[in-house]
Amino acid sequence: MNEKTKKLINNAEKSAQSIFEAIDETALANTQKVLTAFKNNRISARHFAPTTGYGYDDVGRDALSAVFAEVFNAESALVSPNLLSGTHTLTVALFGLLKTGDTLLCASGAPYDTLLEIIHGENNGSLLDYGIKTDTIDLKNNDFDYDSLAVALQKEPTVVFATRSRGYSWREAFSIETFSKFCRFVKEKSPKSIIFVDNCYGEFVSEVEPTAVGADVIAGSLIKNPCGGLAPTGGYIAGKTAYVNSIANRLTSPSIGAEVGSYAATYRPFYQGLFLAPTIVANALKGSVLLAFSMENLNYEVSPAANLRPNDIIRSVKFNTSEELISFIQSIQYASPVDSYVTPEPWDMPGYEDKVIMAAGTFVQGASIELSADSPIRAPYIAYVQGGLTYEHCKIAIAEAIDRLTAAN
Ligand SMILES: *Cc1c(COP(=O)(O)O)cnc(C)c1O
Repeated sequence: MNEKTKKLINNAEKSAQSIFEAIDETALANTQKVLTAFKNNRISARHFAPTTGYGYDDVGRDALSAVFAEVFNAESALVSPNLLSGTHTLTVALFGLLKTGDTLLCASGAPYDTLLEIIHGENNGSLLDYGIKTDTIDLKNNDFDYDSLAVALQKEPTVVFATRSRGYSWREAFSIETFSKFCRFVKEKSPKSIIFVDNCYGEFVSEVEPTAVGADVIAGSLIKNPCGGLAPTGGYIAGKTAYVNSIANRLTSPSIGAEVGSYAATYRPFYQGLFLAPTIVANALKGSVLLAFSMENLNYEVSPAANLRPNDIIRSVKFNTSEELISFIQSIQYASPVDSYVTPEPWDMPGYEDKVIMAAGTFVQGASIELSADSPIRAPYIAYVQGGLTYEHCKIAIAEAIDRLTAAN
């Protein structure tokens, strides 16, 4: 890195110290929580052993779910390599919770892009095709719109759904305090509604998860925050036992639920990944805070603003031109441990209206707990940057990106 960049990064690092300390405290508390769950469940080498066939009495699978449940303050959990992605996990959960004639209320605006077809699609096996109706309430000033919610909750929707992270929008992710208030409000107005939270990108960012403040069910991807970059695939669902059981019946078969499911490779990466996750999430968060201060120093707008404690691992950076945006994303790719020689280009990704450019030089394909960045090519030119297994890697990548950006300007 050149001298100017070095100075900029050093200054950013100094500005970040108090947020870094807060992040470290959270990592400590979460590591304690994970460690306690491992101890209480007497995890040992036998839990890592592969299984085959039906997987009856698969202790590795069952104990992994028990550990997740404890860490997430939930009665039960379903953790499985057979949940294929975040989208699949959320799909299985929605279909497990909703039946024909039921209603879904999306309370934090439109859900994540990949869920739109699952909810509203026509003749593709969507919720709509199965006679499940969905209402959506947009956010108001980046918070829940409580007035509109109060009206919608009079109809007692079966499931009230909210997304913790920002997805591809220019807003801060919700804090746990915001969720706590939201859950109290929903329970007061419509006690029977099931509160279901898309927890992707939020795990271990705070000391408690939405399930600890009133959410009935949460779900997420194992190749994001909760498995420290080690899980090769998988998803998790955690929450009230009755709901987790319904979802397990949907994942496998009615009445069979979580009793079957083998995994012919070792479960060790899931356990070890969960053990490392609080630290890895802290590394990613620190990288994100460093990026924010560095870019603000160069007069780029970032969200959340650098001096705010982040509530998820994504940082949005607004660039002036598509050239700057593309250059930045390419720099992240060049600074990756895998496929560093590849130049990402904008392409027509299925399901997106604009061309999308992505940097993901990751060990696990598409794992966004690893340093990655992506963006639709449209004004305003916003890069969404997330992950980073080590703070050092984030720092080097940010420096290289800034070197290139300032050289071009
Ligand atoms: C990543 C993500 C998803 C979808 O997960 P995939 O693994 O990409 O299918 C859903 N919701 C949010 C908020 C996400 O960040």
